[in-house]
Amino acid sequence: EKLKNGLKKTRESITQRIDQLLVSMGKIDEELFEELEEILITSDVGVETTLKIIDDLKLRVKSEKVTDPRQVKNLLKEEITSILSSGDTGLHLNTKPSVIVVVGVNGVGKTTSIGKMCHMLKMQGKKVLVAAGDTFRAAAIDQLEIWAKRAGVDIIKHAEGSDPSAVIFDAIQAAKARGYDVVICDTAGRLHTKKNLMEELKKVFRIISRELPDADIETLLVLDATTGQNAVSQARTFAEATGVTGLILTKLDGTAKGGIIVSIKSELDIPVKFIGVGEKIDDLQPFDAASFAEALFS
Ligand code: GDP
Repeated sequence: EKLKNGLKKTRESITQRIDQLLVSMGKIDEELFEELEEILITSDVGVETTLKIIDDLKLRVKSEKVTDPRQVKNLLKEEITSILSSGDTGLHLNTKPSVIVVVGVNGVGKTTSIGKMCHMLKMQGKKVLVAAGDTFRAAAIDQLEIWAKRAGVDIIKHAEGSDPSAVIFDAIQAAKARGYDVVICDTAGRLHTKKNLMEELKKVFRIISRELPDADIETLLVLDATTGQNAVSQARTFAEATGVTGLILTKLDGTAKGGIIVSIKSELDIPVKFIGVGEKIDDLQPFDAASFAEALFS
């Protein structure tokens, strides 16, 4: 239900327009496909992905001899479900400790998402330690500490301006010594010094793999759904620099740009693992393609 409410604006942008279109069309023809294409592209599904979806739809309409425009909606829903379904949406955190490195540019909702994940993992009975690896901003450390308290998990922090790798190193030692299950590492997200940022992140990864050579490591990239196609280019940059095992797509509530999730999945093939649908601690949901498509098209 929360998902359905969260996707309200995207649903209005995509589904209501599609409904209106299909009801107004007497038959399935080129004009219908062109209008559908327009709706998908303006809903941030992305040009490349939209063209692929439309091509597939045309094939299915032909091969399944569909004549009623209203049936096109179901075909579209199946098409989008199948794009979103591929890939592994769960977290692999089987070693003790295991590590989640959270990356993303400032403002996308990184701190909030870490807080929500702390809560979620704690509720699953895991002992969680947070490493305040964004040492560039004092406010980032403070905010993270507030979230850690709220979730009831421990935090390792150093002073502002200190070496992020040193924070991560300390957190890993603490995790080994005190039996934590998961270490969640925050990282800096200042994009105006992209090269330095990527070098800093690579150093963090070197420390982790040196100290925990056999650990399960998830690298989760946080993207802000309201930024539309910008999110896709951020995903490309991070995927190339650090590798990304999964995405957290935030602020899906209150945006009409939820179609971006289809674009990202189709163009980059990185699984969406969580979606953010609000500002509160339990407003993070494991991503499920079928429920997402259901909420979008209901
Ligand atoms: P950071 O700079 O990436 O760490 O971003 P923050 O975690 O501080 O979040 C920036 C703003 O986005 C804050 O006001 C958050 O409350 C808000 N935010 C984060 N995630 C969500 C979400 O899923 N939905 C909504 N509506 N707001 C969010």
